[in-house]
Amino acid sequence: MGEFELIARHFTRAAPPGGAVVLGVGDDCALLQPTPGHQLAVSSDMLVEGRHFFAGAEPEALGHKALAVNLSDLAAMGARPLGFTLALALPAADEAWLAPFARGLFALADAHACPLVGGDTTRGPLTISITVFGELLPGHALRRDAARAGDELWISGRTGEARLALALRRREPWARGELATVQDRMDRPTPRLALGQALAATAGVHAALDVSDGLLGDLGHILKASGVGAEIGMNALPVAPALSALDEGPRLDCLLAGGDDYELLFTADASARKAVLSAGRRAGTAVARIGRLTRTPGIRLLDAAGRESPLAARGFDHFAN
Ligand code: ADP
Ligand code: MG
Repeated sequence: MGEFELIARHFTRAAPPGGAVVLGVGDDCALLQPTPGHQLAVSSDMLVEGRHFFAGAEPEALGHKALAVNLSDLAAMGARPLGFTLALALPAADEAWLAPFARGLFALADAHACPLVGGDTTRGPLTISITVFGELLPGHALRRDAARAGDELWISGRTGEARLALALRRREPWARGELATVQDRMDRPTPRLALGQALAATAGVHAALDVSDGLLGDLGHILKASGVGAEIGMNALPVAPALSALDEGPRLDCLLAGGDDYELLFTADASARKAVLSAGRRAGTAVARIGRLTRTPGIRLLDAAGRESPLAARGFDHFAN
């Protein structure tokens, strides 16, 4: 199968009517028409075999995840997806890999009305690079530099299950539980698009990002960009049932430093509390208030009594800068 046949068979589909796509796969460029008065939001993410996923990973889940991590970036900005491109390096034109990969990819693309509009295909070590295009109204973007001291800190869903899945798969000694209960949290993350757009349209919501490298580490990006610090109430963190069987150390490690969660971490003025809860309900995504931003730089982890937690301080000193 040649390159053009491969593209025609697996990656060429009619663009859905009514969307932003004027011209899709097949010409030198795709043509997109954003809604007048909107800004474009653009993001790329690359997945490399052996580095971001296991050699031999299930292709359908890979198709899902490759697009999900990109859509998650649009969600974190509050943007609505318009379309995406796919650059693919493949060791061979393998039907048994391409068909399920395309199935996983398009299932998620269709669920979010985000059509594939172009890309590039070449022979090489398996690498999946996607660029997503989205749009939002000027002033609505949830930027990392927009947090303010006094803001409340929120998280969507729950963190840590993807990290537990990785540990169970690697048989790390502290890991307990059934891989099947947490596997999808690692392999098939859910981009929080509806929530991101609802938050972007909510007055008083300031900064957001998607948690891909662990809650504390990613929070650090907001704090640095905004010049603020944070306090987190450890008992306010939503804990998945699968994590409650773990010892306290590994549980905190999963919750605070896990990675691959793709939940939205965001800040909002205290006066927006009801509106944030309502945005979560409209989006069908749980949101939890886990702390607040401070003028004092650094991250402080507080126990139930509001005291700085020594256990957490020991474990996570390297994050608190
Ligand atoms: P060019 O020579 O301009 O780079 P290509 O021959 O690489 O064009 O691609 C032909 C058409 O197929 C282009 O419209 C390109 O966007 C599209 N395309 C190539 N690879 C993919 C892919 N993996 N997924 C979707 N579209 C693709
Ligand atoms: Mg090309």
